Amino acid sequence: MTTVGILGGGQLARMMVLAGAPLGLRFVVFDPAADACAGQLAPLQVGAFDDTAALAEFAAKVDVVTFDFENVPAASARWLAGRRPVFPNPAALAVAQDRLSEKTLFQELGIPLPPFADIRSRDELAAKAAEFGTPCILKTRRLGYDGKGQFRLRGEADIDAAWQALGAQVGTTGLILEGFVAFDREVSVVAVRGRDGEFRAWPLTCNWHVDGVLSASLAPAAASAAQHEAAIGYARRVAERLDYVGVFALELFCRGEELLANEMAPRVHNSGHWTSDGAETSQFENHLRAVLGLPLGDTRVLGHACMLNWLGRMPDANPVLAEPAGHWHDYGKQPREGRKVGHANLRDDDASALAAALERVGQALGRQAQVEPVVRALRGG
Ligand code: AMP
Repeated sequence: MTTVGILGGGQLARMMVLAGAPLGLRFVVFDPAADACAGQLAPLQVGAFDDTAALAEFAAKVDVVTFDFENVPAASARWLAGRRPVFPNPAALAVAQDRLSEKTLFQELGIPLPPFADIRSRDELAAKAAEFGTPCILKTRRLGYDGKGQFRLRGEADIDAAWQALGAQVGTTGLILEGFVAFDREVSVVAVRGRDGEFRAWPLTCNWHVDGVLSASLAPAAASAAQHEAAIGYARRVAERLDYVGVFALELFCRGEELLANEMAPRVHNSGHWTSDGAETSQFENHLRAVLGLPLGDTRVLGHACMLNWLGRMPDANPVLAEPAGHWHDYGKQPREGRKVGHANLRDDDASALAAALERVGQALGRQAQVEPVVRALRGG
C-alpha cells in the first residue's frame, strides 16, 4: 500500500485523493488549517509548513511527497527531499515560486514573453515604466496568485500610487514590472512529465478571467496547429530543463498567432479541471501516475469540454446535473466572498450542442455573462 503525502489540503489535494482511490493509494494531507477541505476525504495533519518537527512526523507517515500549494517554503521542500522522494523537485518549485526566476528561465529557453524587470526602488519603477510604456503591471515576485499582489499602471501618473500600494513589499516578496499585453485570448498548456522523462500535454485550453481569477475554461482552444505545437513545445522545454516530474501549467497570452508566456504553476491547475470529465485521463490521475513512476495515461480530450468556476458560494446544482454530460464538483468549503468553492464540467462531442447546454445552464443560474464568451468561442466567434 503506497501512501502519498500532499503539502496543502485544498481542493487540488481533495481532487488528487479522489483520483488516487481507484489506484489503491492512501493519502495524508498537511495543511495549516484544521478545516482544509481535503481533510474531509483523507487524514489531515495540521501544522505550519516551516515546522520541522511536524514535517518529520508527516514524512514518517508517507512514501512520497507532492504539493497542492506552490508556496510551501522551498527550504521545507528541500528538507523533506532529504527524507522522502519529493515531486516536483524542490529546485523546480523554487523557480516557479518567483516570477523573476521563472521569467528569466523562459527567456533563457527562447520562449517569447512580455518585457519584465526586477524593481528595487521607486526610481527603478519610474525608469522601467517609461521604458516599457503604459499600461504596465507591477506585481509581487512571490506569493501572488489570482491577480492578488498586482497593480496596473495606466499612465506614468500612477507611479506613486503603485509604489504606495506595493513598495513596502520590495524587501519581502520582491517586485517585478511587466509590460502589458493587449492579448486577444489567454490559453494554458497543462502538461505532465513522468519520472522516466515521458512528456504528455492535454490540448491547449482557452481561459477567461474575471478580476484576475479564472472564470471559465474551454478545451480544445480554437488555435492553429502551429500555435498548439508551439505552446506545447514551450511547456516541454520548461519541463525538461527543470527535470520536472508531475503535472504543471504554463499560462500564455495570445495576440493573433503570437504566444507570450505569463507564468507557470508547479502543480495541477484550475485550467485543467475540465480533464476530470472531458479527457481520457485527468490531470489529477496523471499527476499521481507521474509522481509514483507509473505509466502515464492518454491526454486526449473527449470532444469539447468546458469548466465553469464557482466563487463565493455554490449555485444550484440541478441545471448542470440535468445536462447529459454535466458534472458537479463541490469542494465542501464554507461560503466566503471570492473563495473558489467548486466548479462544473460540461462536455459534448459536438461544439454547438455544448454551446446550447452552456446557454441553458447560464440562463438557469443567472450566469449568462460567465458562459457567454465560451459559447461565442464554441460557435467560432
Ligand atoms: P497572473 O497572476 O500573473 O496570472 O495574472 C492574473 C491575470 O491578470 C492574468 O490571467 C491576466 O488576465 C492579467 N495579466 C497578468 N499579467 C498581465 C500582463 N503582463 N499583460 C496583460 N494582462 C496581464
